Amino acid sequence: MTAKELEKELLWEAPHIAEKAPEQNEEARVFCEKYKEFLNKGKTERECVREAVAMLSAAGYRKYSKDAVYKAGDKIYWNNRGKALAAATVGTLPLEEGLRMNGAHIDSPRLDLKPNPLFEKKEIAYLKPHYYGGIRKYQWGAVPLSMHGVIVRPGGETVEILIGEEEGDPQFCVTDLLPHLASEQNARKLAEGLKGEELNIIIGSLPFVSDGEETVKESVKLAVMKLLNEKYGITEKDFLRAEIELVPAYKAVDIGIDRSLIGAYGQDDRVCAYTALAAETAVKDPAHTTLTILADKEEIGSVGNTGLNSDFVLHIIEDLAESLGADLRTALRNSICLSSDVNAAYDPTFASVYEERNSSYINKGCVLTKYTGARGKSGSSDASAETMAKVIDIMEAEGVFWQAGELGAVDAGGGGTIAQFVARMEVDVVDLGVPILSMHSPFELASKLDVYNTYRAFCAFYK
Ligand code: MN
Ligand code: MN
Repeated sequence: MTAKELEKELLWEAPHIAEKAPEQNEEARVFCEKYKEFLNKGKTERECVREAVAMLSAAGYRKYSKDAVYKAGDKIYWNNRGKALAAATVGTLPLEEGLRMNGAHIDSPRLDLKPNPLFEKKEIAYLKPHYYGGIRKYQWGAVPLSMHGVIVRPGGETVEILIGEEEGDPQFCVTDLLPHLASEQNARKLAEGLKGEELNIIIGSLPFVSDGEETVKESVKLAVMKLLNEKYGITEKDFLRAEIELVPAYKAVDIGIDRSLIGAYGQDDRVCAYTALAAETAVKDPAHTTLTILADKEEIGSVGNTGLNSDFVLHIIEDLAESLGADLRTALRNSICLSSDVNAAYDPTFASVYEERNSSYINKGCVLTKYTGARGKSGSSDASAETMAKVIDIMEAEGVFWQAGELGAVDAGGGGTIAQFVARMEVDVVDLGVPILSMHSPFELASKLDVYNTYRAFCAFYK
């Protein structure tokens, strides 16, 4: 036996997908055109739920009803307050055999407006944000932003806010300093390049010109409020009854002359949300009942009743168990869940924070992450060997390209996902997702081949 032969037999390294399966380039390209559309339409958790409900309705899903009788193949969904969602396809096996669960999240780091956001300084009107999730604040200056959200007017009518996404719409922006005057700012630590209270978003600069003699102190703020009032019928006080999010205004694009990558805002974790939804809607008569979860609030620790650190998913499984006449605890104990979330792709420019042999790489497929956490796996749900084996076998049976990776080198940092909250229900769970470059930046990169193979992994899992 030659060394080459023995190497092939005994050693393993995930291959570049385009070398092993060049035909997947075109399949991935086609799949990702729809994915890019989803990214452009769903820039907030509410918008993602709306898009998901449209996709599910078109695929024959109906809202769960306590009174309905469900049988194998039936497709159901639950809408949690317009901000989180779950969808199921009833399996041919009894529910006690366990569910095949897949949880992704649809919230992404962004600039949320403060409850009292509008102010004027030197005849410029600004909006004050409180950032949401783990952002590197310096990345958000001089980036075109669009405004998304809802205001609940007195009387209960919900007004949808959307400015900056249509061609020709005005957009918004946080200013940054010119290099000529930035020597002091340049000496700051990067984390303070832009400080939280410096993320002031410009919304206008023209004053309200009074018909009479009398003037007001803040005429630019007044003029902005007048425009908002004309457009949405709101007054300043109504910001307290609102959720408004500022996000990058640009659309998803191809990156690289070979178009191998997608550059876009919010791919963490809409890349898993979209691929999970696409696999969920495609499945017909699965053996195990599927449950696809699109959660909110992951980026701030999954807290709140639209996040996974609440009982909303447990209640959904209770609904299913009741409707299908199944024993809930047996069903939970036999279930397996993919905690579908992105991981940090190895970035050669910043090699020192990765451990090469245990990192994920772009174009090598979806990444299975045994544990996340920080400082000795703290805060992680460490998947068992049995769970890893089950998921690997499922993927290998269908020829899915996959790899394994940790979130960076030991003690370089760390992070968490929804896995720990799924595990609390006594469900077996492991993280799986797409390797991302520039994660949590306003412009994240993913490989089309990886996105496509994540979809293929989810299809194999639901089958
Ligand atoms: Mn994530
Ligand atoms: Mn994240």
